[in-house]
Amino acid sequence: MAAPSKATPRLDPFGELTGAMSREEARAESSRCLYCYDAPCVKACPTRIDVPRFIRQIASADPLGAGETILQANALGHSCARVCPVEVLCEGACVYQEWQANPIQIGRLQRHATDAVYAEGRLPFAPGPDNEKRVAIVGAGPAGVSCAVYLRLLGFRVTLFEKRPLPGGLNTYGVAEYKMTPKTALAELEFLFQLGCELATEKTVGADIPASNLIHDFDAIFIGIGLSATHRLRVPGENLPGVWDALSFIEAVKARHGKGVPKSAATVVIGGGNTAVDAATQSLRAKTPRVVIAYRRGQEKMSAYRFEIDLARRDGAVIMTDAVVRRILGKKKVEGVEFTDHRVVSCDRVITAIGQTKHYALAKTFGLEQHNDGRIKVDAATMATTRRGIFAGGDAVNGGKEVVNAAADGKKAAWGIHQTLFPGRCAPEGNAYWISTIDGRLVAPITPRTAS
Ligand code: SF4
Repeated sequence: MAAPSKATPRLDPFGELTGAMSREEARAESSRCLYCYDAPCVKACPTRIDVPRFIRQIASADPLGAGETILQANALGHSCARVCPVEVLCEGACVYQEWQANPIQIGRLQRHATDAVYAEGRLPFAPGPDNEKRVAIVGAGPAGVSCAVYLRLLGFRVTLFEKRPLPGGLNTYGVAEYKMTPKTALAELEFLFQLGCELATEKTVGADIPASNLIHDFDAIFIGIGLSATHRLRVPGENLPGVWDALSFIEAVKARHGKGVPKSAATVVIGGGNTAVDAATQSLRAKTPRVVIAYRRGQEKMSAYRFEIDLARRDGAVIMTDAVVRRILGKKKVEGVEFTDHRVVSCDRVITAIGQTKHYALAKTFGLEQHNDGRIKVDAATMATTRRGIFAGGDAVNGGKEVVNAAADGKKAAWGIHQTLFPGRCAPEGNAYWISTIDGRLVAPITPRTAS
């Protein structure tokens, strides 16, 4: 069992990890940028935000302009500034890394810029002229919301169907509180929905609304349904009180700052991915004194990002490797976990994070082809599924990636829908920037729509 690294002082247990920058800090940090030609940080961003451009705008005391640059390329730039794993994306690619110097703090600069736009309260874009086509979006998570925004810029009428009471998907319910609060996630949605999107919550497509109705009533459909329930361990004791799946645990902590979650003296988190590590860090920040992450292979096989593991260990998590669960111990509630090599860890809470299943039934309802592992098959350029008029993106397609990947998929699908319903027609004037950020190339001549 690896010992925890030196503990750092505890931060606010419910505060966001990525702090805001003052104007002076932002100006100083932006002045370090080399404004690289063919910048690697841009290529590393799935939404292709023009990083040197927005950093130059900050350096020129124009944070609002910087925010516009970001949001044109990534409508969810406000939340991505908080939840993106910048260490393996833009900041991981910054040229400063080659010189073993600190990379530009792109994530915090992005937050500085988008915070300025949100404080101003003015959308940096407007809906396109009404093209009289209607698009249904199934799932108001990051992929669906991103798709909705760009469809509105193209003049489509958009209705989002969301089964939960609130929109936002993982941003609202599943991102650990220490990364982003639900308040930030919901403020982003309120801001973006000023574009004029219809939102129907607590409506489950396939149950409350037949898929056939959507196919009949709308000109196109975008499926952004994410992933389904957490896999079960299938060991004795799994149904004891005190056993949580990671997403339910994070959601419960986020609701009313964890007041509905019983305190724990010792928690075992089972899994080795980012969700497991998030749950461990969130437990520690919610004042659980002892947290063990139990992973069935060696630490080098853990799929969680290194910096996330380091953060959990700095907060006090213990990593236990080659730990295959045999059973969860306890009579009336959880008392410990027994592993196949006879190790036993006493605890009063177990959190499972061993991956999520796919939405097989809903994909079948729409008649969509899936890969063997359940991911929906799409054309990578347009996000079109194997059924004409139906598009998909986000975790349901990629199997579970970052919010920024879902945002990129939604943007690409919006353009794919436009190309399918209006073949050869240009985009409304003013969309040049975001369309050029799809795969980093200009995909259509940009002229006013009336000229096409
Ligand atoms: Fe600036 Fe680093 Fe991007 Fe170069 S790679 S433009 S230095 S942020």
